[in-house]
Amino acid sequence: MAAPKHRRTALERVEKFISETYFTDCNLRGRLFGDRCPPASLSCFQTSRRIPYDEAVGQKFSPAKVGDSFGPTWETCWFKVELSIPPAWAGREVHFVWESDGEGMVWRDAQPVQGLTKEGEKTSYILTKSLKEMEPHSLTLYVELACNGLFGAGKGSMIAPPDPDRRFTLSKAELVVFNRDVYELLVDLEILLDMAQLLGEENQRSFQALYAANQMVNVCDVTDPSTFPAARDLAAAIFSQRNGKSQHTIHAMGHCHIDSAWLWPYEETIRKCARSWVTVVRLMESNPELTFACSQAQQFEWVRSWYPGLYAQIQDFVAKGQFVPVGGTWVEMDGNLPSGESMVRQFLQGQRFFQQQFGRICSEFWLPDTFGYSAQLPQLMRGCGIRRFLTQKLSWNLVNTFPNHTFFWEGIDGSRVLTHFPPGDSYGMHGRVEEVLKTVKNNKDKGLVNHSAFLFGFGDGGGGPTQKMLDRMKRMSDTDGLPRVQISTPDRLFSTLEKESSQVCTWVGELFLELHNGTYTTQAQIKKGNRECERILHDVEVLSSLALARDSTFQYPASQLQRLWRLLLLNQFHDVLPGSCIQLVVEDALRYYAEIRRAGAGLQEEAVQSLCGDLLQLEAGSAESTLVLNTLPWERTEVIARTGPAGTETLALVTVPSMGYAIVREPVLPAQPVTVRRQEDGSIAMENGVIAVCLDVMGRLTSLRLLDSQRESLPDGCCANQFALFDDVPLYWDAWDVMDYHLETRKPVTTVLKPLEITLAGGLRGSASFSLQVGESSTLTQEIILDATSPYLRFLTQVEWKEAHKFLKVEFPVQVRSTNATYEIQFGHLQRPTHWNTSWDWARFEVWSHKWLDVSEHGFGVALLNDCKYGASAHRNVLSLSLLRAPKSPDATADIGHHQFTYAVMPHQGSFQDAGVIQRAYNLNFPLHAVPASSAQCPAWSAFSLSSPAVVLETLKQAEDRPDAVVVRLYEAHGSTVVAWLQTSLPVKEAMLCDLLEQPAAEGRLPLEQRGIRLSFTPFHVLSVLLVLRQ
Ligand SMILES: [Zn+2]
Repeated sequence: MAAPKHRRTALERVEKFISETYFTDCNLRGRLFGDRCPPASLSCFQTSRRIPYDEAVGQKFSPAKVGDSFGPTWETCWFKVELSIPPAWAGREVHFVWESDGEGMVWRDAQPVQGLTKEGEKTSYILTKSLKEMEPHSLTLYVELACNGLFGAGKGSMIAPPDPDRRFTLSKAELVVFNRDVYELLVDLEILLDMAQLLGEENQRSFQALYAANQMVNVCDVTDPSTFPAARDLAAAIFSQRNGKSQHTIHAMGHCHIDSAWLWPYEETIRKCARSWVTVVRLMESNPELTFACSQAQQFEWVRSWYPGLYAQIQDFVAKGQFVPVGGTWVEMDGNLPSGESMVRQFLQGQRFFQQQFGRICSEFWLPDTFGYSAQLPQLMRGCGIRRFLTQKLSWNLVNTFPNHTFFWEGIDGSRVLTHFPPGDSYGMHGRVEEVLKTVKNNKDKGLVNHSAFLFGFGDGGGGPTQKMLDRMKRMSDTDGLPRVQISTPDRLFSTLEKESSQVCTWVGELFLELHNGTYTTQAQIKKGNRECERILHDVEVLSSLALARDSTFQYPASQLQRLWRLLLLNQFHDVLPGSCIQLVVEDALRYYAEIRRAGAGLQEEAVQSLCGDLLQLEAGSAESTLVLNTLPWERTEVIARTGPAGTETLALVTVPSMGYAIVREPVLPAQPVTVRRQEDGSIAMENGVIAVCLDVMGRLTSLRLLDSQRESLPDGCCANQFALFDDVPLYWDAWDVMDYHLETRKPVTTVLKPLEITLAGGLRGSASFSLQVGESSTLTQEIILDATSPYLRFLTQVEWKEAHKFLKVEFPVQVRSTNATYEIQFGHLQRPTHWNTSWDWARFEVWSHKWLDVSEHGFGVALLNDCKYGASAHRNVLSLSLLRAPKSPDATADIGHHQFTYAVMPHQGSFQDAGVIQRAYNLNFPLHAVPASSAQCPAWSAFSLSSPAVVLETLKQAEDRPDAVVVRLYEAHGSTVVAWLQTSLPVKEAMLCDLLEQPAAEGRLPLEQRGIRLSFTPFHVLSVLLVLRQ
């Protein structure tokens, strides 16, 4: 009989029928599990190490029980669980249920079989879907329990530093009968209830779903499963009412974003990968339609070497097209700070790994969680076989909403890639009605594209997708009122989007994240390690390649370089290089940098020994001359420190040809020596014939003149090299964020500890130094150095940093008027405004830059160079370099301690391109190498030179697949169209263009001409050339 229906009571009636909290004594949810039984025995042993299974099972296990707790943080507890399934459960589905706040892995027959992580809704391991009498009823499982949660062990909040004394409790361990029919009805009712609630009262579909659910409660007798089919039929009738043709299609893909290190160390990530991926493999066995997009070659490599059995199963599912490797990079790296060459290596190492392991490279770049994306990335992707890009992080913008979800992204050279942001603004969906509706509603490109991505699964060790997510989405596959939800793959999605792309918009330039701008500065030692190790690997590759070209018997250290590159690339992960990780990770990262420095020094020595061993002086202290090597592609004249005959260090002005070396015996005298004069008021004046500076007693520049033009760089009455301290208390993401309001708390640093005094009187080098008190308890000592012939003034800086929530910057007000400043990025540069006109302008109050930034007007400008900093800003006429932060979460010790860094200021005539700012910034970062040499005669030698100053030869390395060839990578750095001739003295027999993966281009052969090899460039074009050597 029809009864009156009140919307609210009907909704809440259904809610209570499936509630986990209310009425479980009589509702459907209370019937999900049947009989239970404890394990026959439970025992454990605990270790502070992460050990293999074989070692673990040989240990002595002691009795344990549910309710026991284990720890402290980062320990591992191994449990031996003996189970005996009651024979009365024949025909029933039996689960082993395990609940703990630590992350668990079930081992059976010496193989990992499933992850058990409560926070990832994974608490059941299915022993049998239907217990057969013949089946053994007794078995032994091991559970490996990591004493950390999904997000580590933050004390009080997720991103707080880990609590070292946290204990983890085993709250459930038992066998249960699982009622699958109850579960299916629960999922039906959940979806109908969500449709009823979320489609809204204006939508009749809402009422259809509600009344169907209400009727299901009427027909369903929870004590009598024979009533369930009728209830399920009512639900099926709703779910099978189809959509019209115009409905949006959601491409759902399983995913599990695993941070390679973050609130836990690298070593734990290896286990997180195994726990998550084995769970995915189990799910694929019973759901052949399930797909899973999985990025980061490094994580595959970890699982390959630590879990070979699991890896073999993954390979099978890759072959079936279900487990889908994506991304093409070694790790999901930071998108701003790695150098151009590092970015190339992320792809080179990644794509080669995927090719070797799975027989194909990835066709999409996958970087959902990184804090901004360099405008050079489109060209690098295209050079590595990638035309598609998926991310979503710009949905975190604090100020402006990004205008598109599907668009062409165009980089600084004009390269374009089809880019998609899943419109639901997440990479960890749960397959809920609310999320699919949000995906459709939020999509900014309605009417242009009708397909979108939907990544579902718990990340970071939560084990990715669940059966329930899949079962929800099955019901929504094509149901009137909801978007179509298909299980899909990145390739299917992008192929469809490509067909729909004729009208989508284009975004030109960087994808700047308006949040997390403190990550350009946090953890200064990691930043310094990155810059330094990029330089070390560059130099080792250049010198080893030259050694190889000169002597084909030289053993190029390919495998060692690969190992070191992979350490560097790993540290570029998007919570390590940005500095948003815990102290344990920082320690690992710094250890990896130390290893690159150590091994790199050895490799460099071997290369130099091979390249010019006959010139070297073997007896220490008796050097008669100095061998100076230049790894950069232009001739350099600089002051270097060298070891003299008596073993003492002396200065010398040297000229070294491009990518080559020279022997220095008698030092060259500069046409104009450096003069240093103390003035009556205590200030100090220095000049070198190129620039003249005046410094006040606290080391501030009061004048900076270009002598040629007599042009003053500083505005009247302004001081440059002015340190300023800001309060730095963000809203939540401590290590990540610096907020706009920090600018309102500026305090100039003016407390002098030691006034400026002359430390080098001039000649080849003049210098003066001073010390300041910074904040409450930090100190800063700086040596300001002017070298003969140098166009820039260097600031060698030491800081003892003991602050909390402070931000130290150094400011250079300049007498230059320009509405834009220029910042170096990977293989190029870009402009950002110096004003705050619009919200898009002021949201970039703190930006990133590589080796230099510059502000210029026609004919004149000032550049600021640095050797290990990335954070910067240029507002109106003030250039600022961000030096140190002091966040307390997630690493309470972040940046506390000693720091050394160098920056330099360079006024120039003409444009920064014509003035050679780019080359000078390289010089500052790649010092000449001076080695004691014998008295042997040897003319200067150059391996490569270029006819155009617009072109930078960045990389010289052995080719990956051709030991008899080297790869030369060059880029156009001025933003111009230019032809450059590459000259080489190496025995080259063949030259051809290749892509960034070193695949020769069709028709790519380059003639070897008298003038060299002719190369033509458009603005910021990156070219790779394969040079085959004569042996
Ligand atoms: Zn992440």
